[in-house]
Amino acid sequence: MSAQIIDGKALALRLREGIAQEVDILEAKTGLKPGLAAVLVGEDPASAVYVRNKKIACEKAGLYPQEHLLPASTTQEALLNLIHQLNEDPKIHGILIQLPLPAHIESRAILQAVSPEKDADGFHPVNVGRLVEGDPVFVPCTPKGVIHMIDSTGVEIAGKRAVVIGRSNIVGKPVAMLLLHRHATVTICHSRTKDLPAVVREADIVIAAIGKPLFVTPDMIKDGAVVIDVGINRLENGKLVGDVDFERVKERASWITPVPGGVGPMTIAMLLQNTLESAKRFAKQ
Ligand code: NAD
Repeated sequence: MSAQIIDGKALALRLREGIAQEVDILEAKTGLKPGLAAVLVGEDPASAVYVRNKKIACEKAGLYPQEHLLPASTTQEALLNLIHQLNEDPKIHGILIQLPLPAHIESRAILQAVSPEKDADGFHPVNVGRLVEGDPVFVPCTPKGVIHMIDSTGVEIAGKRAVVIGRSNIVGKPVAMLLLHRHATVTICHSRTKDLPAVVREADIVIAAIGKPLFVTPDMIKDGAVVIDVGINRLENGKLVGDVDFERVKERASWITPVPGGVGPMTIAMLLQNTLESAKRFAKQ
């Protein structure tokens, strides 16, 4: 039987409509409009597209977007100065540093300079610590979107075997932590995992966050598993594909996300959500 498709575009649209309503209510009650500052250093074309899409999404949902497009030659000091300004700016409730940064800038120092109270991506060590403790303030956007997608299926996470493939700080580790907090039994696989297919075959829930096209094949998938594909890979012919061999894996899974139109749109919706939640916290202060 063919899997049901988790439509990330439709889910994200619904989320964004809800966010737009909440933004209106917050503004009417408090006069405060959630503000998101996006900082892009350099001319990486993919990053420029991401930042533009985030700006459009902000405008559509009624948030206040601020864009800082800086040349690749920007010094670390100049970037730190901008972040300090944004930390103090009362119109800004979320700050996003588009990664990757140019090689001469130390990414860790930059991410640590963002105020933990405005860290819309949840990458600051304080927010990572809060997440590990199980009391998160900002949850990283892509992992938050992944959990929302699983919840949308009605499949219970508690008690399930979940396998996350990939251990990055922005996807693999935080998504594993969120699944653990939801009482799944979680295994993280990575490039040195021995007999990875056998491990993945145990999973009721599979999260693929590797960055390798068509890495996850049907022989790795238990019948009826839920398969979430975070990967975004561009093939030589220009086609976008995920980490999962969608056409074949969907014949084994119960639920599956497509690429494009899966996790990607959810990430932007969650960024708006994080900024809205942050603005609400500021409004309470
Ligand atoms: P990353 O390169 O930081 O991490 C990849 C992980 O995959 C590593 O932990 C590595 O151990 C693991 N890996 C690599 N080769 C492997 C192998 N042969 N076997 C097992 N594990 C292996 O990547 P990332 O930032 O976590 O992103 C992963 C993918 O998700 C990329 O395609 C990226 O473009 C995509 N992504 C999508 C979104 C979205 O919004 N949809 C957001 C972030 C990342």
